[in-house]
Amino acid sequence: MSYDDNNIFAKILRGEIPCKKVHEDDFTLAFHDINPQAPVHVLVIPKGKYVSMADFSAKASEAEIAGFIRAVGKVARDLGLEEEGYRVLANIGANGGQEVPHLHVHICGGRKLGRMIHLA
Ligand code: AMP
Repeated sequence: MSYDDNNIFAKILRGEIPCKKVHEDDFTLAFHDINPQAPVHVLVIPKGKYVSMADFSAKASEAEIAGFIRAVGKVARDLGLEEEGYRVLANIGANGGQEVPHLHVHICGGRKLGRMIHLA
């Protein structure tokens, strides 16, 4: 699947639509999900044009991968989720229920989430 420059997270990265930003660095942007499924629900996205985790894991540089993973951990820590725990989740493709074709990781916490998040 080729990258669609008009996806909503590309527009957020270009500053064309607003987001509730919680973190930004050279490689990543993190912001609150517009439709939170938990008391804390934040998305972390790479700044590079990657459709999904499949695309990112195959094509991103070591620096981008390290930067992304470190940002996920830092955002959760800074949100105060570490002590009680949280969930990190990435939907990939049609069966994964991915709606926005720019890689994003969901960080959810603030309550007991059960064994899995039910998506449909
Ligand atoms: P996914 O199903 O993994 O692709 O999740 C896409 C997520 O993006 C959903 O949880 C949406 O609520 C969220 N979302 C869609 N548009 C926006 C937006 N403009 N700002 C923040 N989150 C959004």
